[in-house]
Amino acid sequence: MSLDKDPVLSELYRTFISGCHILHYQGVLDAYGHLSVRHPNDPKKFIMSQYIAPGTISSRVDLIEYWVENAEPVDPTAAKGYSERCIHSEVLKRFPEVNSVIHSHSEAVVPYSISGVPLKACYHMGGFLGTKTPVYDNANYVRAGVDVPDMLIRNTHLGGALASHFTDSESGTSPDYAVVLMRGHGLTVLAPTIQDCVLRAVYTQKNAAIQTTSLLTHAAYFGSSGTPTSSRPEIKYLSEDESSATLEMTRWSAMRPWGLWLREVEATGLYVNRG
Ligand SMILES: [Zn+2]
Repeated sequence: MSLDKDPVLSELYRTFISGCHILHYQGVLDAYGHLSVRHPNDPKKFIMSQYIAPGTISSRVDLIEYWVENAEPVDPTAAKGYSERCIHSEVLKRFPEVNSVIHSHSEAVVPYSISGVPLKACYHMGGFLGTKTPVYDNANYVRAGVDVPDMLIRNTHLGGALASHFTDSESGTSPDYAVVLMRGHGLTVLAPTIQDCVLRAVYTQKNAAIQTTSLLTHAAYFGSSGTPTSSRPEIKYLSEDESSATLEMTRWSAMRPWGLWLREVEATGLYVNRG
């Protein structure tokens, strides 16, 4: 069967392009950042767009197949791709159950990558974050004279180091975390499907905004009332049990926001999806 006639692949292209549009519409991606998906017919390959802003991806012509092993294009004559695709290849390589990855520079989230304030699940929609979100620090892995210390992940060495932060086990091949922050850069999100990954990326950003507002509200209220620091109540984040339970909830309900977000990007007139 020709790949162009493959209904699974055609559906995947449409979903992928819609996912890129939703991530742009929701403000998770701007001109930068990207989505990837593992090839449904060959787990050794994955799909990303060529080097264009996610909101402008419009057809399968914009999509490129890469090898998971080294993030090189399957077709050596393919158009230019994103320089940070090793983020995606190394996460997909390490975790066989992961099929979709998002890398974002979300401005709501970046403060939690540099401030030492841990990003935690603040409400039920952010339950997948749990009680701790790891932070990857590129400075710990940049090799003198080999890697440029510009925070970008351009090779499998740095991509592999980032991927290792998704698990507490040195040799773990199942992720313990859905999100890893990247110091002074952004975040990377993983999930079994494009829809789950988009949901997690959108709600990581919303959760970060809620946490920031909570921290500011807490400091302003108790600071202005003169309450001694030792007497102030702690902000109540979700517990381990609550995080686990709400993770399940967002899993089975992911298609509800997806349906709404899909209609939004279809209705704006900005985005084109020819599949
Ligand atoms: Zn980046």
